[in-house]
Amino acid sequence: MRRRNASAPGTEETPLRRQYLEVKSRFPDAVVLFRLGDFYETFDEDARVVSEALEIVLTSREMGKGQRVPMAGIPHHALDGYLARLIRQGHRVAICEQTSDPATSPGLVDREVVRVVTPGTVVEPALLEGNAPNYLAAVILDGQGAGLAYADITTSTYATAHLLLEQVPLELERLAPAETLVPRGQNAFFRPGTTTDMEPSAFDLELATERILRHFGTATLEPFGCQGVPLAVQAAGAILAYLEETQRGAVGQLASLHTYSAARFMALDPQTRRNLELFQGGRFGAGPSLLGVLDFAQTPMGGRLLREWLGQPLLNVDDIRRRQDAVEWLVRSAAQREETRRSLRTMADLERLVNRIRGSAAQPRELQALRRTLEAVPRIRELVGEAEASLAWLRDGLHPCTEVVELVANAIVDEPTVGAGNGETIRAGLSPELDELREARRDARTYVAGLEAEERTSTGIPSLKVGYNRVFGYYLEVTRPHLSRVPTHYVRRQTLVNAERFITPELKEYESRILNAQERIAELESALFQRVCRQIAESSGLVLEAAGALAQVDVLAALAEAAFRNDYTRPIVDESDSLEIQDGRHPIVERALPTGSFVPNETTLSNEDCSVMVLTGPNMAGKSTYIRQVALIVLMAQIGSFVPASSARIGLVDRIFTRVGLQDDLATGQSTFMVEMVETASILHHATRRSLVVLDEIGRGTSTYDGLAIAHAVAEFIHNHPRLGCKTLFATHYHELADLATSLPRACNYNVAVSEEEGNVVFLRHIIPGAADRSYGVHVAQIAGLPNPVVTRATELLAYFEAHAAPSGVPAAAPPARRPITPPALQLGLFNEVGDALLRRLESLDISSMTPLDALNALHDLQQRAKELDP
Ligand code: ADP
Ligand code: MG
Repeated sequence: MRRRNASAPGTEETPLRRQYLEVKSRFPDAVVLFRLGDFYETFDEDARVVSEALEIVLTSREMGKGQRVPMAGIPHHALDGYLARLIRQGHRVAICEQTSDPATSPGLVDREVVRVVTPGTVVEPALLEGNAPNYLAAVILDGQGAGLAYADITTSTYATAHLLLEQVPLELERLAPAETLVPRGQNAFFRPGTTTDMEPSAFDLELATERILRHFGTATLEPFGCQGVPLAVQAAGAILAYLEETQRGAVGQLASLHTYSAARFMALDPQTRRNLELFQGGRFGAGPSLLGVLDFAQTPMGGRLLREWLGQPLLNVDDIRRRQDAVEWLVRSAAQREETRRSLRTMADLERLVNRIRGSAAQPRELQALRRTLEAVPRIRELVGEAEASLAWLRDGLHPCTEVVELVANAIVDEPTVGAGNGETIRAGLSPELDELREARRDARTYVAGLEAEERTSTGIPSLKVGYNRVFGYYLEVTRPHLSRVPTHYVRRQTLVNAERFITPELKEYESRILNAQERIAELESALFQRVCRQIAESSGLVLEAAGALAQVDVLAALAEAAFRNDYTRPIVDESDSLEIQDGRHPIVERALPTGSFVPNETTLSNEDCSVMVLTGPNMAGKSTYIRQVALIVLMAQIGSFVPASSARIGLVDRIFTRVGLQDDLATGQSTFMVEMVETASILHHATRRSLVVLDEIGRGTSTYDGLAIAHAVAEFIHNHPRLGCKTLFATHYHELADLATSLPRACNYNVAVSEEEGNVVFLRHIIPGAADRSYGVHVAQIAGLPNPVVTRATELLAYFEAHAAPSGVPAAAPPARRPITPPALQLGLFNEVGDALLRRLESLDISSMTPLDALNALHDLQQRAKELDP
């Protein structure tokens, strides 16, 4: 039996085993990858976990007398891929490296955990998505609110905020962190399995303050804007504490801390993001989205920033106009836009590149990519400069970083090989010592190469060859027939079937010259390369600033490109409360239709005249499309984008709410009517006069009358409540709801125009004032392919229901009581078939020729049949 208890009597563990157990005891909740030569090995339970997770062989290893422990290993060069799989499966991984040189340390090699990799702290490109950030977040809650900080160590983003409790879910939704740190004990407030618990001391205000000051080397928190915002400080401190623990001292990536206020940005709840298809469209999230329509960004940095802008519409007119000015200039200056986009296209992901350089993870080729990217900056700066005032705010950030460019140009060859160390990375002239070594190596190699010809002549053996293998080094090979001619100073080393291999003292002399030079080159070149990386790291603040400015130029150019290609216009954004759109279009739906076939529509809303727009019309008429289009146009305007309309004037909106009745919202699957109501309730609690509310078929998730009643009451509440009275778009296929406009002064009716020709109904997609008089549902059923008898019968029933409705014609708007509709309708239906037969039989009786008994029998027969009618 395998003994797993390390201290069991009679066992004696090896020093290696002791070293491993000591490391493991410090990282009990991580999988420890323990470097042993060319492999990362795992032991014991970790080995079982890893062999299963990575589908690799579970073996065992003798690690002491009578002690075999389970072991599974991965080759060191394949670390990235395996690491990616472990992290994706939710493991934390501690990487334990050899920290002393095995060649020079006589006993056990030193080993140390250099990094703990967790979902929020990965830097491996294999694990990152190019255009999405990888956030590590920290949240602490208390009675006053919440502190929420986040960082992306691959891009140096580091920000913190004090939030209201209700804003926390929205911020987390916006950031979608890969990992969220919370103080142990507060995890109950989050979905299980989504948080990483930390000791509450990591969030301690004093310790957090100290940590931040120490990290940035400052005396106060003032530069970061979080002095006097304790919760923000605590959350930011926890991020640092976690990075210190996992990054083992390489926390240098975070170069600044930004304290932000959620009040600068419009909060968008998850339902609204989904309903408006901001990032994912269609039922399964795979359809076109607004991001997809606007994403003309050319760099990964721009892609990430565009996504951020879409999730954080602005709330300040000046900020919006500043972006609009830039977009407008870029729309008008086609040549400059083209050139800017062309040069952005060639740029590397500067943010991530810089962080790889700082984390000593960069390859020589990445330095050249950095250089080429930076070399393109001055031209972009010039182009931006041509815009004068409209882009001036970006100019200063576009540092050419000349020092970094020159550093790389002088130090690294233009086309370096993969890793530094083989002498083909550092440019000649940088280090005389390296140049000498390379020359020595070249000379020795030339000598060996020339030896073959030389020896062939001197020995007269035409087939003599110089070769090299890893075991014997350089050798001279002579085939069997010529062995007699081998000179005496040749020393035999290896016998093959057809040949023998020899060495000579001279050959070995040159060999050791080559190998010695090689070894020194490897050391020296790696050291030089690391020095260059460190020097670049010192300027990383400037490079990151340039990267940030490039990202903004990229997003603005992308918005301009989208405006140009999709024919958008610049909206007027002001502090008014009106919303006027001419020829508005739905940016996503219009793209799915043939060019020019989308029917544009007008919108006029304001808090005074018409604040609640009730849009009635048959199913499939275009109601949902229209009300979403209005919300999307407002959202686009507030990120600074142009909008799909011929003109628009948009009074700033503080928040956009959208809710969709159940049947239109199948994507979430497990929704219930309850969820619909909870969501609606939250609008009624959170909306203000400045909000825009979009309600689509609210109340649909329950019976007709309940639904109508709720929809009616919600609209009334929004319309009448002093805090609300906000602009509201209300789409419903219940044409009965049009009655709202008669009782509410600021509610107005609109409907989707329909043309009816020879019984055929055509949706015109035009939104026109007035209420829809009927819902054409039966017509839609016909289009959908229901069998003709069903459609005919439905038409009959409809006529019946309409005839029996209350005199006002609006039975459902405020129904006195539920009307039992079904029973008479059903009987009517059956009577038509069986009843007709009965009537015919009754008619056909010739009473004058019947005996009383015949008459009695006939009567009995009729009665029997009548009974069948109503069992
Ligand atoms: P409703 O909500 O009234 O049932 P939708 O808004 O879902 O209808 O629209 C149904 C379909 O009609 C959409 O998928 C779209 O293809 C088309 N449509 C809607 N509005 C327009 C428009 N303005 N121009 C052209 N087609 C439209
Ligand atoms: Mg709809």
